[in-house]
Amino acid sequence: MKEFEKNIRKVEPYVPGEQPQQKVIKLNTNENPYPPAPGVKRMLKEMEADRMRLYPDPTAGELVKTLADYYMVDEDQVFVGVGSDDVLSMCFLTFFNSEKPVLFPDITYSFYKVWAGLYRIPYELCRLDGDFRIVKEDYRRDNGGIIFPNPNAPTGLYMELKDVEDIIDHNRDVIVIVDEAYIDFAGKSALELIPKYDNLIVVQTFSKARSMAGMRIGYAISNSRLIRYLNDAKYSFNSYTMNQAALMCGPEAVRDKAYFEEGIRKIIRTREWAKKELQRLGFSCLDSKANFIFAAHPKHDAKEIFEALKSEGIYVRYWGSERIEQYMRITVGTKEEMTVLLEFLEKYLTAAEESAKS
Ligand code: PMP
Repeated sequence: MKEFEKNIRKVEPYVPGEQPQQKVIKLNTNENPYPPAPGVKRMLKEMEADRMRLYPDPTAGELVKTLADYYMVDEDQVFVGVGSDDVLSMCFLTFFNSEKPVLFPDITYSFYKVWAGLYRIPYELCRLDGDFRIVKEDYRRDNGGIIFPNPNAPTGLYMELKDVEDIIDHNRDVIVIVDEAYIDFAGKSALELIPKYDNLIVVQTFSKARSMAGMRIGYAISNSRLIRYLNDAKYSFNSYTMNQAALMCGPEAVRDKAYFEEGIRKIIRTREWAKKELQRLGFSCLDSKANFIFAAHPKHDAKEIFEALKSEGIYVRYWGSERIEQYMRITVGTKEEMTVLLEFLEKYLTAAEESAKS
C-alpha cells in the first residue's frame, strides 16, 4: 500500500437512485411528475446568456427575501443551498461537533450516515417501532444532536407536531434538525416552533412539491444566530453555491402559490388512489403522507417485483437492506403513470400465482 493511502479521507458514498437516459416510467427518486410553475419556464426563456459571465449574488438575496416573505420570517433567518443535501451537509459540518453521538432513526434517509462518516461524527441509530414509527422517547438519551425527516423516508410516515416538539423540548442543549423534504404533502410544519425553540432548524427543498429537483435549491429556516453560523461555514467553503439560473428561477416558483397548492392536491389525490389500488392487489402500504408509497407484498418477493418492473421500463426504488428487504418505494407519478404500473403489477401477480398453482 502506498504511504499516502493512510492519509486519504476515505468515505462510503451515498448511492443516488438511477437516472436512466432512455425514456422510462420514472418512479424511483421522488421527483414531481408535473412541470415547475409557469414563471420558471418564462424566466428560463428570458434569461440572457450574458448573465453567466458574472458571478452570482453570493448572498442569494432575492431568493432569500422571497422565501422570508413567503414563510413570514426575517431574511436573516433563511439559509439557501444547492438542494437540501447541500444544506443538510452544511448543518452536519456546522452543528454536529460533539464527542457524543448524533441520533437519527435506523430506517431513514441514508445520506445521514454518509455525512456522519465524511465529517467523522459519531452517531447512534434509534430503532423505529414495529409499525416503522419514530419512538420519541428514544431521543431522551445523552447526545450530540438530532436529525430526522418528517415525514420520514422511505416510510412516508408523518409524525404529529406535538411529538416533534416533544423531541425538540427534551433536547434543548443540542441542535435538532427536522428535515421536511416532503412536508408539503403531509401536515403541519415545525416552522411554527422556531420562535419557541432556539435549538431548532427546519430544512426544506424545491425538489419535491416545487418540481425543481434539477435546479438544486434547498433551504434552512431557524433563528438568525444559527443561520449566521451556517453562513460562516458556507463562506469558508464556497461563496457561490447558488448558480444564476437557480437564483432567478427559484423566486418564480415561490411566488406562484396557487400553482404550488394545486400541484400538491393532485399528487395527494393520486397517492391516496394508488394506495387503495395497491392494497386491492394484496400489497400492504404504510400510510405515507409524502409523494411516495412504501409497499410490500406478503406473497411475492420485492426484489423480483422490482426487477420485473425495471425490465418493463418502470423504475421504482428498492434497497434490500435490513428490516426493509420486502419493501419497494414507489414515487407518486401522474395518474397515467400509476395506471401503467398497477396494470403491470396486476398482470405480474396473476401470472406468478398461476405458475405457483401449476
Ligand atoms: N431529505 C430527504 C429525506 C430526502 O429524501 C431527500 C431527497 N433525496 C433530500 C433530503 C434531498 O433532496 P434535495 O437535495 O433534492 O433537496
